[in-house]
Amino acid sequence: MFYQSRSRRPLIDHAKGVYMWDVDGKRYIDASSGAMVSNIGHSDPRVIAAMNEQLEKASFAYRLHFENDAAETLAYRLSERAPGDLERVFFVSGGSEAIESCIKLARQYALAIGQAQRSKIISRFPSYHGSTLGALAITGYTPMHAPFAPMMVDQPKIPAPTCYLDHDDLTYHERGLKYANMLEAEILKQGPETVLGFIMEPVGGAATGALVAPDSYYRRIREICDQYGILLIYDEVMTGAGRTGKYFAAEHWGITPDILAVSKGLAAGYAPLGAMIAPDRIVGPVLDHGGFIHGYTYAGNPIACAAGNAVLDVIEEDNLLDNAAQSGAALKTELGKLANDFSMIGDVRGLGLLLAVELVKNRETMEPFDAKHMAAARLVDIAYDKGLIIYWRRTRGGYRGDHVMVCPPMTITPDQFNDIMDPLRAALGELQDELTL
Ligand code: PLP
Repeated sequence: MFYQSRSRRPLIDHAKGVYMWDVDGKRYIDASSGAMVSNIGHSDPRVIAAMNEQLEKASFAYRLHFENDAAETLAYRLSERAPGDLERVFFVSGGSEAIESCIKLARQYALAIGQAQRSKIISRFPSYHGSTLGALAITGYTPMHAPFAPMMVDQPKIPAPTCYLDHDDLTYHERGLKYANMLEAEILKQGPETVLGFIMEPVGGAATGALVAPDSYYRRIREICDQYGILLIYDEVMTGAGRTGKYFAAEHWGITPDILAVSKGLAAGYAPLGAMIAPDRIVGPVLDHGGFIHGYTYAGNPIACAAGNAVLDVIEEDNLLDNAAQSGAALKTELGKLANDFSMIGDVRGLGLLLAVELVKNRETMEPFDAKHMAAARLVDIAYDKGLIIYWRRTRGGYRGDHVMVCPPMTITPDQFNDIMDPLRAALGELQDELTL
């Protein structure tokens, strides 16, 4: 196997709910839902039954030969849930494919309406939008670009709204406007007639560590995109499918983006699945101008879509959106208390169950640890040994500072918090000792 991890992990044996067991019988609590994927927990029998049922009926039906009911139904249900006029659903098998589809739809729309000069997609730094070359070009993470620089079109970036790091006299609201107005400045710098879109995660994922912007940011970004005729693309690959306590994070601010990508939680790890959702006002002209020149063999795969439907059933039946909101708020409070005991806790942030803890050398100045310590990576490794799975981002090369994502499945209940908080406290204690030696 082409194995990329630096430290080899044990073999998985089985997983149930929020827990996972390796082949030696050691139990772990999955407090990151894998990579913020397993939103409804592991091995839910309702999803397994739905997938089996579909497998027995038809395991695969190629989209040019047959429509399939699982995909049709899921598309309909997603269009019902998607904000505003977003109603046309294009299935893919993951986040990068969803983002790639957004880029290509935006570009073909510009061509269809006679605006061929629009080709630039502005994004934020830092950010992560995927590993395929198109998605990578709009990803704000320099080390991932380096090997491919000669093969990629460099796309413009503006700073992510890291208001919590700012030392100025502005109110929180004004800081939101300050960061949003950077988009306008970049559009003017690039030439508005050349800009196709702006892409952002409504709540930052692993790149920024669950970064939430002031409300003013979201509204002003929408205004600017409207003013310059630029498509607003929401990357909800991580935030979508309920993780923030609403099915789509866009709902928190009542914003309707022009195109939206969703993946991870959509089939919640039971199958690879993603989707791009766009309005007819964008899809229609593209279809009328020779069709959407893009697609994947596994698009609308019946098994993946059966999983997607069953995951949505579980979210609805078990009220998991409410649980994500409530358990998320309660867990954030618990994480916040860590700051009383550990001066290295610089910030605890996030929305619903998309939460992150930032580690800093100096809480007053928010000075980060020296990259050589790999503080977040060390914390993750120490926690892992204690049976706690959290998600990390390496400090070295590109992102600022250290943060760990604490994002358990949306099924988590407060009586399970100790299984997260006890090993996390112990791990922080050990890390503190290591860093002060
Ligand atoms: N967009 C965001 C916000 C992500 O977090 C990710 C993956 O972490 C992607 C896109 C890419 O998704 P995938 O790894 O499924 O291709």
